[in-house]
Amino acid sequence: MIRILHQIFRTGVVTEPLPDSVEAEIAVIGALLEERIRKTFHRSLTIRQVDAGSCNGCELEIHAMNNALYNCERFGIHFTASPRFADMLLVTGPVSVNMEIALKRTYMATPNPKLVVAVGDCGCDGGIFGESYASLGRISNVIPVDAHIPGCPPTPASLLSGILKVIGG
Ligand code: SF4
Repeated sequence: MIRILHQIFRTGVVTEPLPDSVEAEIAVIGALLEERIRKTFHRSLTIRQVDAGSCNGCELEIHAMNNALYNCERFGIHFTASPRFADMLLVTGPVSVNMEIALKRTYMATPNPKLVVAVGDCGCDGGIFGESYASLGRISNVIPVDAHIPGCPPTPASLLSGILKVIGG
């Protein structure tokens, strides 16, 4: 225990702060998100993230929205493990053939009214994987999509900004 404490004090804080420009951008987007979520979603926008077959690059950026730097929970954005509690599906793609049924079932299990957002170039238009024997391509080939957040992968700032646009901010 003592050795761990020594190690902690010796190492100090190694987390890099966000660049000032990104910090300022997040503050603006965050304030708008908070206001919009308070008015429209009773302070809590609940998201179910679905990986329909991505390379996981998009997931890393989506996870980053929850880290100490971006901390999307402070704006009222929460992730849930169950589609039954979700207001929004954040889907990365392309949709692999093996994920088609799971994605359709997740869509059906999400209560109306629901928002579906295709994330990443692969989710928006199939990206570098396109359509093949193993891939059904874009998310909208499988379930109805309300909005797109392009990028390979989109940054946490683009994701937050895209979510803001989707909810009418
Ligand atoms: S958009 Fe880029 S990062 Fe996202 S799943 Fe496709 S290849 Fe990966």
